[in-house]
Amino acid sequence: MGPPGAGKGTQAQIFHERQGLPHISTGDILRQAVRDDTEVGRRAFAYMREGDLVPDEIVDEIVRTRLAEPDTAGGFILDGYPRTLSQADALDAWLARAGRSLDAVVSFEIREEALLRRLTGRRVCPVCGSIYHLDVKPPRVPGRCDLDGAELIQRRDDAQSTVLHRLEVFRRWTAPLVDHYRRRGIFLTVNAERPVVDVYDEIREFVQSRAGRVR
Ligand code: ADP
Ligand code: AMP
Repeated sequence: MGPPGAGKGTQAQIFHERQGLPHISTGDILRQAVRDDTEVGRRAFAYMREGDLVPDEIVDEIVRTRLAEPDTAGGFILDGYPRTLSQADALDAWLARAGRSLDAVVSFEIREEALLRRLTGRRVCPVCGSIYHLDVKPPRVPGRCDLDGAELIQRRDDAQSTVLHRLEVFRRWTAPLVDHYRRRGIFLTVNAERPVVDVYDEIREFVQSRAGRVR
């Protein structure tokens, strides 16, 4: 968990590549639903455009369905979920029913001025979801994804006006989740302003000490 632009997707992507864990990003799933013009996509579109949270029952159902797929049996990474206390309760209930539990909850800490630079410079691949930054992580060929050559896009909700609203939404709804998880002894706070590899190493070490599964 962490505010938009803190680097959650970047870290989840590296975990996915190096550890083979499925990367479950509710934002990515919702954006795909919007592109595919599904019923979920049509219901979520206006909330996402404005930087508001999509209603809990929609995202809870998305995550429940995704977690029931067999590739999650050996572990998974949730990115951008839960974002409200009600979602955290829904996740707890699902995990309890499935006889599963979380190994780690990672909170990304970063100053707002650093976030704004990250979000305005962020570019993403609409095909594979790879994340770039104009200054920090430019693609090899300008404007093209390193992996599949697709034309990179700027997310509509990375416009400065929407970004400020998303930060407010984070403070109001998601930041309180820290208390929900801090008590459980599975909670790690990382300084997300450090280089990508340093943040990764710290998370990997923590997860390894908790789960013993990652390399
Ligand atoms: P989130 O998933 O939390 O919204 P992203 O992973 O998409 O954030 O990262 C936001 C932007 O910041 C991207 O352009 C990414 O390349 C860049 N970024 C991510 N982690 C770092 C870091 N540790 N240092 C500098 N830039 C980063
Ligand atoms: P993200 O890609 O995580 O930045 O999410 C992009 C947008 O998708 C958010 O601004 C919300 O509109 C929506 N979204 C993603 N995850 C959730 C969630 N767990 N709860 C509600 N809305 C979400």
